[in-house]
Amino acid sequence: MKIAVLAVQGAFEEHEKVLQELGAETLQLRKASDLDHDFDGLILPGGESTVQGKLLRELSMMGAIRDRIKNGLPVLATCAGLILLAEKIAGEAVHHIGTLPVTVKRNAYGRQLGSFHYEGIVQGIGIFPMEFIRAPYIESIADGVKILAAVNGHIVGVQYQDQLAVAFHPELGGDQRIHKYFLERMVSKN
Ligand code: GLN
Repeated sequence: MKIAVLAVQGAFEEHEKVLQELGAETLQLRKASDLDHDFDGLILPGGESTVQGKLLRELSMMGAIRDRIKNGLPVLATCAGLILLAEKIAGEAVHHIGTLPVTVKRNAYGRQLGSFHYEGIVQGIGIFPMEFIRAPYIESIADGVKILAAVNGHIVGVQYQDQLAVAFHPELGGDQRIHKYFLERMVSKN
């Protein structure tokens, strides 16, 4: 099983490490021609969504990634990755990949709570250590989007068809179960 990891900016190496420990092969996506390779799933890592979005446009990767996801490529998006996937970004006119029918709010927890740790339930997985770093939350969802996790009433994890997106960093908490869920339940089933 080969999983592509968007590697233009952000915390992609940590995802690769978890995937490799779980026995998956990884492929870094740094330029448009990297998308010509065969792969079975995609990770959109945390980082800075404005920078990642700008690079995806400049590198002519946005359209191809969007099409692959629309055609059913399983994707796991974390933090900035969730912002890239969202159909709407609150207060902003642009969106990026836009395949996930939710509205996200960026830097949603204010300055005081820029970064925090929370232990909460992820549906289908159980109590999970969640690392939030200047994280977004999901303000609203369309029909068909399943809520997987919430913190203080704010949605922080969803699944919609083959797209799994969380506002926190599952690659940093030392718990591999979200990656395992992605590989076993979303990638392998295809
Ligand atoms: N604040 C970042 C953004 O708006 C996301 C932070 C993260 O990925 N940890 O893109």
